[in-house]
Amino acid sequence: MQILLVEDDRPLAQGIKTSLAHEGFTVNHLTHGEQAINSLKIEAADMVILDLGLPDIDGNEVLKRVRKFNAELPILLLTARATLNDKVKGLDAGADDYLAKPFEMAELLARLRVFERRLSSTKHADLTIGDVSLDLVNLQVTVADKTLELSRREYMLLKALMENAGRIQTRDSLESKLYSWGEEVASNTIEVHIHHLRKKLPKEFIRTVRGVGYTIKVK
Ligand code: CA
Repeated sequence: MQILLVEDDRPLAQGIKTSLAHEGFTVNHLTHGEQAINSLKIEAADMVILDLGLPDIDGNEVLKRVRKFNAELPILLLTARATLNDKVKGLDAGADDYLAKPFEMAELLARLRVFERRLSSTKHADLTIGDVSLDLVNLQVTVADKTLELSRREYMLLKALMENAGRIQTRDSLESKLYSWGEEVASNTIEVHIHHLRKKLPKEFIRTVRGVGYTIKVK
């Protein structure tokens, strides 16, 4: 899951990033509303955590403008203005949920897991290619009905490949799905994950496209 965090309070943002990364979420962080809108036009996130009090434009304005081009994106508002009026205004403007500062990290995580479940259940419940099935609700992978033990990143990598089966995925595009902006990533990290995945998957399931990336053939 890729989360865009829009929050100008850097210590708070750092705390959120650390907690979410620990849970396996990929977090990209921006401090300004205009940046967030531009970024979402170019690269979609799976969910957005949006602070209301931003240095340039108000979070509610960001919300309204994002809703014009993306009606589905789950957006959680963060705010110090915990009055009922603000809450109603935010929800009216198209927010999916609302969390008043200060909040416990555990609560933020719980809300995001609700988003994650909702996202999974609105998509296909599972994705099967050959003997390999990806259960998008329980985040599990089975090969001929046997459940595999995968790390969160191995799962995300396999999901990215299976969702785009028949198309070649470059190392760069896979890397951007697995890691946050600015996160230190070793140059061979995708190769290493692929190597581990291949040991668990049927032979030839993931194919190397030399010098470009990887692909999964549609049967
Ligand atoms: Ca703020």
